[in-house]
Amino acid sequence: MKVLAFSDRNELMDELLTFLSERFEHVDAVHGSDYDPSKYRVERSFVYDEMIYDPWQISEALASLFRQGYDLAFFGASVLGREVAAIVSHLTGTHMESEIFDLGFSDGRTIVTRYFFGGRTVIKKETTAKVFTLMPGSVEVKKAWQSSPEKVKLNLSGIPRTRLIETVNKEKASVDITKAEILVAVGRGIAKPEGLELAKQLASVLGAELAGSRPVCQDLHLLDEDRQVGLSGKKVHPKIYIAVGISGQIQHLVGMRDSKIVIAINKDKNAPIFNEADYGIVGDAFKVLPLLIQKLEG
Ligand SMILES: Cc1cc2nc3c(=O)[nH]c(=O)nc-3n(C[C@H](O)[C@H](O)[C@H](O)COP(=O)(O)OP(=O)(O)OC[C@H]3O[C@@H](n4cnc5c(N)ncnc54)[C@H](O)[C@@H]3O)c2cc1C
Repeated sequence: MKVLAFSDRNELMDELLTFLSERFEHVDAVHGSDYDPSKYRVERSFVYDEMIYDPWQISEALASLFRQGYDLAFFGASVLGREVAAIVSHLTGTHMESEIFDLGFSDGRTIVTRYFFGGRTVIKKETTAKVFTLMPGSVEVKKAWQSSPEKVKLNLSGIPRTRLIETVNKEKASVDITKAEILVAVGRGIAKPEGLELAKQLASVLGAELAGSRPVCQDLHLLDEDRQVGLSGKKVHPKIYIAVGISGQIQHLVGMRDSKIVIAINKDKNAPIFNEADYGIVGDAFKVLPLLIQKLEG
């Protein structure tokens, strides 16, 4: 089988190419100019110009590449990757499965494993899909192969539907929360500047990274979307996960259930997060966090 991989994010490309190198003989990868696919089983490497970020232009180029004889296409589930996967599926008239974390074949049938019912359950199902996104954080990266892929420039033709006007650098380089040993996760319960400041102080005394629930990352933009844990964010597996002001909805839990120790701080003693927690503190985080920080510093 010949498969195509695309990601605009290098860390997701590492996961994607580990996943594909373990399963397929022929993998071609489409990536930005600063990515090196030589530690994976990659035959051809298509480099696209990252400055042209119009999802439609990239999707049209990928769809036309896909039609040249690929059996399946896989996408890293970044914001752009998810959008491009959906457009490629539309343009090629193929079905799509999103956020899979396993894939295999049985008697010529494709079998995928993915979350279902918003993460309440995991299903293994037969699918006719040809386009897939891979759940971030579901694959342990192994740079276990050696290849010298032929490099080709991916031509993006067509009239862009969007035009880049300005770019603004992020204050801090993005972090990979899937690698963090300790995470302090911020929920809507403390989603105010002073709550975020307390979470930062706790993270600093513990040597932890900050993570967040979807409202905090996507709706309120208090944290970068890279830090979102959950069904539409990342799957994390730290040694310690401290959930502060997070209710514990299933879409969040599916992203943090592999944590070794879960500590929850919530003012509602009936919050579902306590069912997942090894240790729980029922109380107002704005009062609990300063005490915790003081104790840990002392
Ligand atoms: C398709 C889909 C995908 C989704 N993907 C994700 C995902 O990837 N990640 C994700 O997180 N969510 C996701 N969601 C959203 C999810 O359903 C929840 O809405 C979300 O997780 C709730 O975030 P929260 O716990 O921060 O906020 P809330 O549910 O509003 O909970 C806030 C909590 O803070 C507590 N609280 C309030 N004030 C204080 C205080 N002073 N001190 C202590 N505790 C306090 C409250 O008791 C409450 O339990 C998804 C939803 C859908 C439909």
